[in-house]
Amino acid sequence: MTPGGPVSPSHGALRPLGPDEVTITGGFWHEKQALNSTVIIDHCESWMERIGWIGNFDRAADGTIGADHVGIEFIDSEIYKLLEAMAWELGRTPDRALELRFNALVARVAAAQSADGYLHTSFGREGQPARYSDLEWGHELYCFGHLIQAAVARLRSGADDLLPAVARRLADHVWEEFGPNGRVAVCGHPEIEPALAEFARATGEPRYLELARLFVERRGTGTLGPIQHGPEYFQDDVPVRDATVLRGHAVRALYLSAGALDVAVETADDELVAAIAGQWEQTVARRTYITGGVGSHHLDEAFGADFELPADRAYAETCAGIASSMLSWRLLLHSGESRYADLMERTLINNVLASPREDGRAFYYTNTLHQRVNGSVPADDTVIERALSSLRAPWFWVSCCPTNVARTLASLHLYFATADDEGVQLHQYGDYSVATTLPDGQAVTLRIASAYPFDGRVVVTVDSAAEFTLSMRIPEWAVGARLDGTPVDSGTARVRRAFAAGETVTLELPMDARFVRPDARVDDARGQVAIERGPVVLCLESVDLPEGVDTENLVIDSTRPPVTTPRGAVVLVHERIGAPERGWPYGQQVSYLSQQVTAHLVPYFSWANRGPSTMRVWIPES
Ligand SMILES: [Zn+2]
Repeated sequence: MTPGGPVSPSHGALRPLGPDEVTITGGFWHEKQALNSTVIIDHCESWMERIGWIGNFDRAADGTIGADHVGIEFIDSEIYKLLEAMAWELGRTPDRALELRFNALVARVAAAQSADGYLHTSFGREGQPARYSDLEWGHELYCFGHLIQAAVARLRSGADDLLPAVARRLADHVWEEFGPNGRVAVCGHPEIEPALAEFARATGEPRYLELARLFVERRGTGTLGPIQHGPEYFQDDVPVRDATVLRGHAVRALYLSAGALDVAVETADDELVAAIAGQWEQTVARRTYITGGVGSHHLDEAFGADFELPADRAYAETCAGIASSMLSWRLLLHSGESRYADLMERTLINNVLASPREDGRAFYYTNTLHQRVNGSVPADDTVIERALSSLRAPWFWVSCCPTNVARTLASLHLYFATADDEGVQLHQYGDYSVATTLPDGQAVTLRIASAYPFDGRVVVTVDSAAEFTLSMRIPEWAVGARLDGTPVDSGTARVRRAFAAGETVTLELPMDARFVRPDARVDDARGQVAIERGPVVLCLESVDLPEGVDTENLVIDSTRPPVTTPRGAVVLVHERIGAPERGWPYGQQVSYLSQQVTAHLVPYFSWANRGPSTMRVWIPES
């Protein structure tokens, strides 16, 4: 089996582990992976079959598609993200029925590939726009990127068969068209950059890395034509290495950064590595929601200005949270710094996991932090527009997020732990096992047991005797953490010893609910508090309030600390009575009577699973 998960750099501080080295065995994360394998993957496949998106490939193959392509121009990518999810799933758990479905779907995709390697159902045939006639909006290379990433998942799961062969022909075609002797151009939506860099790593073909490098270096040089949102939208305003913060369309910016870092690492371009790390830092410090979500403009799905983070207009697209985690993972592998895993934890739990409904049959595309009015219930059999849902919807005309959730959950375990020459590093917590071999030949087998993210006790059992360093991430929020009873600071705690078989190490992370306040420059949250419990951001949802009490008419009594409950917290709030009837909501002093209400807070990721509701993460202080 080719080592490594979705990202396998040739060098770096940490070595990623492969599908045969990490297994999630139970608990919270296992439930999420099981929901994906039993519901979400099937849901995505059946919707795309039913509304003709997969059928596009059949009609492209038999030459009948013409102008009758179903759906918008980038939906090929959804089939590819589904294939990636299936490939990781097959690498995780062999499943004969899924293998047959995967092979059948790959065969339909492969049949639509042209003799010269080109593969897209929207362009180049009679009745369709010419190939590469709309690089600004056409998403051709973007779709190719997702096919190539699916092929990487297949290779890393131990199978070099039809999908990687299709991807090789496609990547070779891109080399002819866009390589050193081809047109000097980029795609309006980055994605092929990290895909090609990873395909180079997985196949050993240096041309694919060079192609990724060319795409990264051409970005920001004005090769794309003018669009209404301006060149910043697709990061064509400034060369990647000259930018200081992420800007424009959030998913585009983050996919590009992931690919640029891959290129920088493989070409030993330290200047580019430093530029990307600096952009990550500025973006986290100034343009990221408390949930880890990014993007505060609905119009162009884009980052706002520094500290422009409106809760009720949060875009925080699920895909942007996934893309953010893709970048953080790469920076973690390169540097070994725990802050990157901190952000991944925050983003995966509080932004990405908020997308799927508890039953896995509906999704959020955008992830607001403040719902002011009850949403309507989308029909279970209707496709809706991307961001108009107030409750999760079963499918969208722009449906990038559900398949992105599927591929992320299928590969989730591969982001939990790494190895280096000295030992093993645990970055995320839950019930899982690690079995790897260190460069000195010692086998290290670990069992990690924890009811995380709701319980802070993590017990690591070393199954066979070995001398190595066990490193554990101490989250930035975990003030008062203890390792085998000894206080440890946030960052990385290391234990090096000759472990006996059966020896355990116990980490205790404090899980008391706590108030969190924003930097004063986050105007939309100033004067309010949020409540976090361990890594989980909580929220106040109307269904947890007494009948008739309105989430919009409450202030919190922050003089009393929140009381921790098994999955949330209880806080005291005051309902304002008499105030809103003044007719003018401004004055030198706005006073009102109030009555005390006990409010039960729940994990933000779980909101809107009990019918229409209003919700807020930030609660005004009294
Ligand atoms: Zn999306």
